[in-house]
Amino acid sequence: MAASDLCWCHSGQPFGSCHQNREHAELPHQKAFEEAIKRLKLPRTCAHPDAPNGCGKIVDAHTIQKNGGLSVLAEDGHVTELLLDDGVLRQVPKGIGVASTFEGFCNAHDGTLFAPVESGPRPLDIAALFLLAFRALAYSRHRQALAHARVGLYRQLDAGCQLECQAHYQRTILSMQVGAELLAADLTAMKERLDQMYRSGNYAGFRAVGWLFSELLPLAYSGAFYPESDIRGTPLQRLGHGDAPFEMLCATLTPWNGKTLFTLAWTGQSDGPAERYVRSFEALADDQKANAAMHGGFEDQENLMLRPSWWNELPETSRGALEARRMAGTETGPDKIPGDLGSAQPVLSMAPVEATCRFSGVNPDSG
Ligand SMILES: [Zn+2]
Ligand SMILES: [Zn+2]
Repeated sequence: MAASDLCWCHSGQPFGSCHQNREHAELPHQKAFEEAIKRLKLPRTCAHPDAPNGCGKIVDAHTIQKNGGLSVLAEDGHVTELLLDDGVLRQVPKGIGVASTFEGFCNAHDGTLFAPVESGPRPLDIAALFLLAFRALAYSRHRQALAHARVGLYRQLDAGCQLECQAHYQRTILSMQVGAELLAADLTAMKERLDQMYRSGNYAGFRAVGWLFSELLPLAYSGAFYPESDIRGTPLQRLGHGDAPFEMLCATLTPWNGKTLFTLAWTGQSDGPAERYVRSFEALADDQKANAAMHGGFEDQENLMLRPSWWNELPETSRGALEARRMAGTETGPDKIPGDLGSAQPVLSMAPVEATCRFSGVNPDSG
């Protein structure tokens, strides 16, 4: 292989500056490498459908609004986040000025786009469900782009290994990269559909349900996820198997006029995996839905904010079961929740549903 050829490892770099002489290269120092991972930044872009037109400075945008959202969960101005750090789950106090934020919108668009869901009293309507879904999707797309860039950095960690070991290592990295790219592509495709709906004012094809619970629940989250199985555990779609397009669900659980709103939104086909997930949720008794929505946060969401005293005062076994749920399916966690913990599902709430709002994908303007 010539130095100017693309490297065999699929990094996209020339062999000369990639794997040529890799067996004699030195591993980066662990601390320096960890720092590089933490410092990794993406190009700062705004996720507004009109961007870059009308954009200002990129800011840390909240995914759960600060006033009336995080502020009603916070104690002494802080909420608790469960963050995975090197395979260890840590509970971290976060001030409500920074909790749930990401560098995903500019200061001009963040305010105007989300004003309808941030200034109370907020009506529970299609506009609200769309904006909450849009924000959850923008957040997950940003996180996924970061995860993808991170995989690229891991490529250098075979320095000093023999060729055979380099090849084995790079194959593992490549499959992680392919998985990250597929997820990024699905998120981007959905984002483009929502952008188009927003710009045209035609929301045909957008589907969403919102459930307003009669109480304020002690947690909040926002993000998109692949529904792999429905709420009862029946498989819906298996990632990495076949080449059917995967469907995503945008989920938000947020304080809402002093109570809590849960919403799920999707753009998939009728009777597709996303819709079947939502149907299984709707089939739950009304006093079981809040509990399921809370458990779903631990299972599918990394952008999860908790009221500190609620979390601290949970029985040890409940906290353990929820932490196991949060760890399952992460890079370092076990694939499945251990059986004894999986069946230990603490009841977190029996708050009934007070109001439901549905949007079935038919544009109101077109009848
Ligand atoms: Zn290479
Ligand atoms: Zn902007």
